Amino acid sequence: MRLLHFPDLPPLSHFGIQIPVLDSRATTTIEMLRRDPIIGPSIPGILETEEKEIIRQEDVARAHSDEYSRGLFSDRAEELLLQAYELIDQEGKYRRYDPRSAHQPLREIVPVQLRRVGGTLQSLRSVLPGPTVNSDRNYDPYCFFFGGGFHHAHYDFGHGFCPVNDIVIALRRLQAEGRIRGAWVIDGDAHKGDGTAALTRDDESISTLSIHMADGWPLDIPPFDARGKPHPSHTPSTVDIPIGEEEQRDYVPKLARGLEELERRHPSPDLAVVVFGADPYVLDGLESARKLQLSREQLLQRDQLIFRFLKHRAVPAAYLMAGGYGPYAWEINYQFLRWVMTEGGDGA
Ligand SMILES: [Zn+2]
Repeated sequence: MRLLHFPDLPPLSHFGIQIPVLDSRATTTIEMLRRDPIIGPSIPGILETEEKEIIRQEDVARAHSDEYSRGLFSDRAEELLLQAYELIDQEGKYRRYDPRSAHQPLREIVPVQLRRVGGTLQSLRSVLPGPTVNSDRNYDPYCFFFGGGFHHAHYDFGHGFCPVNDIVIALRRLQAEGRIRGAWVIDGDAHKGDGTAALTRDDESISTLSIHMADGWPLDIPPFDARGKPHPSHTPSTVDIPIGEEEQRDYVPKLARGLEELERRHPSPDLAVVVFGADPYVLDGLESARKLQLSREQLLQRDQLIFRFLKHRAVPAAYLMAGGYGPYAWEINYQFLRWVMTEGGDGA
């Protein structure tokens, strides 16, 4: 498992956005791995911090409408970002946003987010076997990117803290380059991967599995607006596994059956993107993730199940960090990576 982390990217708070996304998700995880007597010495060799990809408007437009893609690169960016990060209420007042505390104007978050999308593309590309794979001693079919997983962005609007959908942008770029054909997206975030499902609805090359809270955001959005227009958050994934509050004990067995169903529907993809998600954790700090309260042990079982499933089928996988809020989110990243780097690498 290689690790990808861009420590120089400014956090959301830099732009005045008050969402409890903490740098410790990455920094504490990496620090704890470094301190581990067995894993620590290998970290400098597997941790990549150099940014190698550039995302342009034409890349964004492979997932989003031309108008929306153009808007993000224009004077309309601020208005689109206020919606994407939900920084304005129905009365037009700011919420979770304090421009006075910002070091840079909101619109300047666009190039920063595109660098994050670049990280997603870089992590996907890094796990693909190249023509020289057998001679490349550095090749590893797994990468964990401490970023990405913006699975709520829709075709013509941003949503749920996600201005653009990095997953679909990166997959379609690799398809356009002829590097891959089919892919799986396996989404364990507490919130349904609604944007990814909607963007790939008519795209048989990308199959999606989402296991998520049965109730609550984004599934509590009315399915139709006042004019009868359907809301795309209700678009089905290829395999949806909604978990009600009373079903949490069955989370892992339900996921196991879902993964088998995904494979039946779409065998042998070239690549899997795992939208990791630490926010189903019982100690997560985001109010809207409260309807899933999984233990640390359950989340390790989730992550072992997905990793073994992919490894046994020799499907390379890029892991994107996705949700995870408050001071304990790093624990979920750390326990999985520690397991992969000790027991998981062999005979898993
Ligand atoms: Zn989430």
